[in-house]
Amino acid sequence: MKLGIVGLPNVGKSTLFNAITKAGAESANYPFCTIDPNVGIVSVPDERLGKLAEMYNPKKVTPTTIEFVDIAGLVKGASRGEGLGNKFLSHIREVDAIVHVVRAFDDSNIVHVDGSVDPKRDVETINMELIFADLETLEKRMEKTRKQMKSGDKKFAEELALQERIKENLEKGIPVRAMTFDPEEAEYVRQLFLLTSKPVLYCANVDEDTLSDIDANPYVGMIREIAQAENAEVVVICARIEEEMAQLDDEEKKLFLQELGLSESGLDKLVKASYKLLGLISFLTAGESEVRAWTIVKGTKAPQAAGKIHSDFERGFIRAEVVAYEDLIRCGSYAAAREQGLVRSEGKDYVMKDGDVVLFRFNV
Ligand code: GDP
Repeated sequence: MKLGIVGLPNVGKSTLFNAITKAGAESANYPFCTIDPNVGIVSVPDERLGKLAEMYNPKKVTPTTIEFVDIAGLVKGASRGEGLGNKFLSHIREVDAIVHVVRAFDDSNIVHVDGSVDPKRDVETINMELIFADLETLEKRMEKTRKQMKSGDKKFAEELALQERIKENLEKGIPVRAMTFDPEEAEYVRQLFLLTSKPVLYCANVDEDTLSDIDANPYVGMIREIAQAENAEVVVICARIEEEMAQLDDEEKKLFLQELGLSESGLDKLVKASYKLLGLISFLTAGESEVRAWTIVKGTKAPQAAGKIHSDFERGFIRAEVVAYEDLIRCGSYAAAREQGLVRSEGKDYVMKDGDVVLFRFNV
């Protein structure tokens, strides 16, 4: 699962992306030289791992990760092929969700492509380019559907009616993600792969001075209003500070945040919000050799979760021994949790929960 970072030029995308790759390079699991330069991998912060490590004293602690793709080049007219145009659009087609960076800082030294900082106009510019691209995709599809209708199959007439409804809404400036569909329609819409159907979160990039007092930043309020209208989340960051902070170790980072009067870095907030946006949860494994978090999509059942660790685990799945993280911590040890009957034996239909601490039993 990947998130694409989009936004107008000079809003702070590269600065944020640098923070991501630096932070990723810090976590030794992913030497970032081996990956695509436009892809940054960061650890998903999870306080539970630290607590489990205190209990198990493992040789290593492995957080789960999430990927961000730097999608530069979106300018007004991109859908008509200006700037990097189509290339940009094909990159965005490959991501599962979008982080839309919006400039919320004044700085006369940094030109704004449209001459002034105006979050509402900026967000609309980007959103309209995506809508234009979707209209083009949709029109091609409608042409095909009209031809298919000649077969007399009623299914195609229904498809065309749905396509027309989507088109009308797009023309009103409404993204697909804000439209309502019944489950069958939603399934059809999914395979149209429209850009505005992807979930979005807005990232307000503020300056160093307003980070500690974001209410004093008028742009943040504007961005929140825009986001609220489409039920989207806003994460406030200062990309410049994140870039600096990404090079610090955990202890230094803590002190730096304390100085700023913050409890959490913007990047950590962004990563957590992105994880939620994608509908992801983590289950945990804990032992003397490793304490580790694993990513699954909400709704994943036990055998498929086991398959994340190894395909043999899924194939030979027998059952899962599960204890909720909170229960385990409260009891103080796995043995104590078992004594209190809190370690459950779950079968192949068990739907995994966030924070399940699991031991899979399987045949080889
Ligand atoms: P991009 O074109 O969206 O990738 O924007 P960049 O990341 O290259 O940033 C454009 C300029 O804005 C650079 O000079 C950055 O140093 C500056 N910039 C980015 N983030 C911040 C920020 O949080 N505060 C301030 N004051 N400047 C920033």
